[in-house]
Amino acid sequence: MLEHYIAYLNFLTGRLTRFFDKQKPYIFCKKGCGLCCQNAQFPYSQIEFEYLMKGFEKLDSLFQEKVTQNIKNIIEAKNNFTGEKFKYNCPFLVDNVCSVYEYRGIVCRAFGLMNLGENGGKEMPFCCFKGLNYSNIMEGKYISAPKYRELGVSEPPLAFNVSYDFLTDAAFEKLFDFKFGDKMPMIDWFIKSKKMSD
Ligand code: SF4
Ligand code: SF4
Repeated sequence: MLEHYIAYLNFLTGRLTRFFDKQKPYIFCKKGCGLCCQNAQFPYSQIEFEYLMKGFEKLDSLFQEKVTQNIKNIIEAKNNFTGEKFKYNCPFLVDNVCSVYEYRGIVCRAFGLMNLGENGGKEMPFCCFKGLNYSNIMEGKYISAPKYRELGVSEPPLAFNVSYDFLTDAAFEKLFDFKFGDKMPMIDWFIKSKKMSD
């Protein structure tokens, strides 16, 4: 099953690489940014979580200890949380770098592009409003044609259907012959599986 999922990931990586290349003038992602790995929920399907744990197993013992401690701290914070939507920094973010980059989830791979919403609307990544992706062509909340022309780009920036729901659609399960399984926030997988939470 994992082999088939990896085949899907290879397909997805090819597509996303092309999308990011097309948007190069507007993309500011770089190693050490890590802003999108913080203060979120990180949806993960069962197979993504299994693959993520393969990445954890490959880490050296020092990194494993750091990640394990991060997970324990997050679970404790979640147990004490009384609000509506618990958010946290990803436990795999160590010194602002993803420690399991090759094994990261689908949401991590697609984040940073402009998403084409269901009604055809364009959804900017939140970091657009923090001076990062697409911020160089924005005028307030809107894309500015003069600004992207100033960059020497003749066409408007493109939005792609890169929502988590679409990228984990049953059509891909059928095409690559695997199942995503249940989906839930990453930290809930650790709680449910009791991995590193005891
Ligand atoms: S998507 Fe945005 S927040 Fe995430 S690494 Fe790229 S620039 Fe940074
Ligand atoms: S798995 Fe890696 S890329 Fe994904 S949120 Fe965590 S640190 Fe960021």
